[in-house]
Amino acid sequence: MSFESLGLSAPVLQAVADKGYTTPTPIQEKAIPIVLMGRDVLGCAQTGTGKTASFVLPMIDILSQGRAKARMPRTLILEPTRELAAQVAENFETYGKHNKLNMALLIGGVSFPDQERALERGVDVLIATPGRLLDHFERGGILLNDVKILVIDEADRMLDMGFIPDVERIVATLPAIRQTLFFSATMPPEIKRLADRFLSNPKEVTVSPPASASNTIVQGLIVVPEDDKRDALLALIKSQEVKNAIVFCNRKRDVATLHTVLKKHGVNAGALHGDMSQPARTETLEKFKAGDIQILVASDVAARGLDVQDMSHVFNYDVPFSPEDYVHRIGRTGRAGKTGHSFTLAAPFEGGLIEAIEKLIGTTIPRIEVPGLETATLEAGDGRRRGRGGRGGRPGRSSGGAGAGAGDKPRGPRREPRAPREHREPRPEAHVEVSAGPQAVAEASVAREPRPERAPRERRPEREHAPREHAPREPRAERSAQPPRERQSERRPERRPEPRRDRDDGGPAPKGLGDHVPAFLARQPR
Ligand code: AMP
Repeated sequence: MSFESLGLSAPVLQAVADKGYTTPTPIQEKAIPIVLMGRDVLGCAQTGTGKTASFVLPMIDILSQGRAKARMPRTLILEPTRELAAQVAENFETYGKHNKLNMALLIGGVSFPDQERALERGVDVLIATPGRLLDHFERGGILLNDVKILVIDEADRMLDMGFIPDVERIVATLPAIRQTLFFSATMPPEIKRLADRFLSNPKEVTVSPPASASNTIVQGLIVVPEDDKRDALLALIKSQEVKNAIVFCNRKRDVATLHTVLKKHGVNAGALHGDMSQPARTETLEKFKAGDIQILVASDVAARGLDVQDMSHVFNYDVPFSPEDYVHRIGRTGRAGKTGHSFTLAAPFEGGLIEAIEKLIGTTIPRIEVPGLETATLEAGDGRRRGRGGRGGRPGRSSGGAGAGAGDKPRGPRREPRAPREHREPRPEAHVEVSAGPQAVAEASVAREPRPERAPRERRPEREHAPREHAPREPRAERSAQPPRERQSERRPERRPEPRRDRDDGGPAPKGLGDHVPAFLARQPR
């Protein structure tokens, strides 16, 4: 099938051709004609399937008729993360270049006045993360009763991140008569129920079985004592031909620590997690996409939808708590028919998580050995660390981790800290062998040097989660993942006419109280 047969206009077809795409992907083939007919769509599709263009292309055509009024967007696209929102905006720029459409991107971490000016001009397409959209709405800066098309993208991710109440509030303010396009990579019952409420007689479009791993990804599993994960990772990075890679950690603090360690070992690495400021996140991502950063250490904020061309490797430094996240993480490589590699480092206590992943993907991940490193055996269980006695019965390794959310909000009592291992030199040269298996990885070999003596351990950042039963992911990365004061300022900027100060940075005393300033007033606001 060709794009021409889908009913798209000449300017849109031209933009698609300019981009070099000749054949629509299955989701585009199925969804575009339905969207053009004005029907609601319930799309079950993962990122990487061409899903974004499946709604962007027909929306551009629908929007080519009519004009936007100030502060009254004509269409609204909700995305769970800033990065995904920015990617959708890029799609509108690419495919809408022969159309005159106004677009606004409302995401956290970016100045309100710029966003307000864009809204004031009148926008055809509003792309937003739920939190920031509600902030504008509550400030009266936006009216949503002219929205004709609503897109809810990555609905299951919204659910994981705790955004569904925000999405429900937003949908309640929209006109009942509208077209709704609802996309989700998976359709658990909660999502199906939500879809039933938001959609009217939708056409269902499913393009790939939910949560299946692409067969262009060569997978490998390295089971080592937890203390050996860093050495194993460094050995893999050295022995594999890594063009560019993401290393996923379950916790933001571990992202920062591992980033430091990799840099210390001469790896060209960057870090990406939800506690970073938006400009820093954007800059890091741009550098990674441009090839200026080779290895990106990231939390699950990068697991979904990030579209980096030709990524050669994905490393799971931690086994993800949710088996679906495994599929999303490794799906950053092996895209567009190219071969990619994914290596997962598992400590014995992560055996339960591996079991769940292998059940989901319906295959056993081939085991790989890193010579010189002790190969451990996976243990049954739920992925929680044993309280005492990790390798060699060393005490003090317990922390509430696995089973907890992949984000960093404390959810329960803190457990004992782990010691950081920055001082440890990697055993520099290792030989990575591959166990036999259908998806065998080519042998990569280097010599080994003796392991340097270990210095005493420093304290490692505490894990911040207590275990949770359901497989959670990074919760509310858009808002909750930011430092609390940043979030506050986002939600109530009008009450903060002055620039924020750091805590305890002094400043003028409150006026009008003479010397009798109560202590709570003398403190700077947080
Ligand atoms: P998405 O699922 O929207 O994240 O898209 C994944 C990747 O596929 C992006 O890099 C798109 O630019 C690319 N893509 C989208 N449509 C097509 C197409 N028809 N042919 C080839 N690549 C495409």
